[in-house]
Amino acid sequence: MAYFDHNATAPVSSEVAEAVATALKTYGNPSSVHAEGRVARAAVEEARAQVAQLVGAKPENVIFTSGATEANNQALRGCGRPQVLASAIEHPSVLEVAPDDDRIPVSADGVTDLDALSEMLKRRGRFVVVSVMAANNESGVIQPVKPAAERAHSAGALFHCDAVQAVGRIPFDMERLGADMATISAHKIGGPKDVGALILAEGMEVERFVHGGGQERRHRGGTENVAGIAGFGVAAKQAAERRLTIGRIANLIGLLERRAEAAVPEAVVFGEDVPRIANTSLIALPGVDAETQIMALDLAGVSVSAGSACSSGKVAESHVLEAMGVDSALSRCAIRISLGFENTVEEVDKFIEVWSGLAKRAAS
Ligand code: PMP
Repeated sequence: MAYFDHNATAPVSSEVAEAVATALKTYGNPSSVHAEGRVARAAVEEARAQVAQLVGAKPENVIFTSGATEANNQALRGCGRPQVLASAIEHPSVLEVAPDDDRIPVSADGVTDLDALSEMLKRRGRFVVVSVMAANNESGVIQPVKPAAERAHSAGALFHCDAVQAVGRIPFDMERLGADMATISAHKIGGPKDVGALILAEGMEVERFVHGGGQERRHRGGTENVAGIAGFGVAAKQAAERRLTIGRIANLIGLLERRAEAAVPEAVVFGEDVPRIANTSLIALPGVDAETQIMALDLAGVSVSAGSACSSGKVAESHVLEAMGVDSALSRCAIRISLGFENTVEEVDKFIEVWSGLAKRAAS
């Protein structure tokens, strides 16, 4: 099987699985003061330091959550600003927090329009939290986070960044980028599912979202998911190390796109002319809908997805491509390929063989 869907979720390494298993056997409650509790606490705090290091934050500013969805919800609901100014291509866990608010438009290449942001900020400023992701999960297009944060701050707004798809792929340092809040998810970097973090800049405060006990410095009630958090810590450490070898994935995606475009000249690679994270390609095969491509590839042992819109198990139209002005007939023919560190040239060959076969069949 060739797994080309790492932006949906990434495989767990043996080190991560081992850390989870060890922590599961460490049954203490991290809030207990006795020996068993202290062992569990130590596992949580070690992971906190590892996650903090991945994003250039202080460990005490990391709040563990049930994933990036909860972290995005908490950031935007809890930061004390009534209006969310989010880019039109954000994940639903950002967009649905403020369904009626205006969206920052993006260019045809899928890059957030900074001048439009400045214009929108003129009217509101201090009542606003701006949310711009570091890299888009469907197109892989890298967003102008630092200038967006600067524009937000000069208007008196706060700035939040969903860094879920960026960490482990491009440098992401909260302080250097000027983010007040950032969100990451364990399972996108090879950690367990249902664990993530909201990370705060020094001095930033958010209200709690999950009420209950005083865990996570009173930022999130509930006994910590010790095993999940321990796995997250190891995954964060590995993500930082692996990022240094991302060039290999960039070469693979480059090869895949060159061969796809050579085999199918009418293919469209979205965001081709702007910087993207190295592992992602959003590519349309005009005339063959995404569902057909996904099923044919699956039968041949290649796993891809249709943009991000498969959360209900159904292929829906992509809000990201819509925001980029792509017409819906073409958008329906787009699949997302997202590679990981274990993929090989032979797997790319297999993909091209099946995919170009589909194109030939459609043309005949
Ligand atoms: N933000 C982005 C950009 C994502 O790709 C995802 C996962 N699809 C999320 C947030 C939600 O993450 P989680 O699955 O941890 O809730």
